[in-house]
Amino acid sequence: MEKKITKKLLEKKADLLALETEKLITWCSNCGNYGIQNALMRALVLEEMGLNDFAIFFDVGCSGNGSDKIEAYTFHGLHGRVISLAAGAAIANPRIKCIAFGGDGATFSEGVNHLVHGLRNNYPMLFVMHNNENFGLTTGQASALTRCGVKMNSAPEGVEVPPLNPMDLVLSCKPSFVAKGYSGDVDQMTEIFQEALRHDGFAYVEVLQACPTYNRETPDAWYSKRIHKIEEVEGYDRSDIWAARRIIQDLDEKIYTGILYVDESRKSFMGNHKGVPVDEVDYVDV
Ligand code: SF4
Ligand code: MG
Repeated sequence: MEKKITKKLLEKKADLLALETEKLITWCSNCGNYGIQNALMRALVLEEMGLNDFAIFFDVGCSGNGSDKIEAYTFHGLHGRVISLAAGAAIANPRIKCIAFGGDGATFSEGVNHLVHGLRNNYPMLFVMHNNENFGLTTGQASALTRCGVKMNSAPEGVEVPPLNPMDLVLSCKPSFVAKGYSGDVDQMTEIFQEALRHDGFAYVEVLQACPTYNRETPDAWYSKRIHKIEEVEGYDRSDIWAARRIIQDLDEKIYTGILYVDESRKSFMGNHKGVPVDEVDYVDV
């Protein structure tokens, strides 16, 4: 599969380069955001999505600073509100694919209500949650996903409150598509994003993201010893929500990545089903 992706990308090199901007890069060296944005650009090109086929919405945070690093229609919204921003655009114009990026801080603190209702309503969009386990842009404060005991700028003696398991919350909200990627595996992320872009409904993709500046607890070296692909689990059934809920419990030793859960039976908010041309969808005028 990886070789196939590389060959196809070589054929589409010009399309990929067209998505690059010349804006100054402000991310730190070795930040996982490079891999995530790169994987999304590859997926867009491989899915043959042109400039008018998609729009990208960015929350506030280091992930949000990607908004000027891609040549596309991009919107930078308020902190924690990116899901509602993208969902509104998806409802107003169902002919485009709306893609939203948000960090763990914005998604599981300021915006956790939007996440819950985005999942429940199954808005037709792709949401990518950059999980670096801290508020990076504001210089390393603890988020709801920072591990216990970790010393952060807002918790110099170490975080005392146990973190949320983000997937546990997501899987309790009747999602229709749930995946987990890792910023160090661009090929796998590309494949996940491709399938998520084709999904008719709310595609939730968490990416475990290296943040070498403020998260020294779980650097790439830590992840590389613990990450496993879901395909390694014999007989894993991605339509079984309890199989997904069991496999995401471990955040410390064996962490599985890939497409973890898909419910093909759920209708998207727009009432569409796979295979129905969008022009024939009966949607609410706004
Ligand atoms: Fe990346 Fe962390 Fe630097 Fe932000 S602070 S750009 S997440 S390495
Ligand atoms: Mg973060």
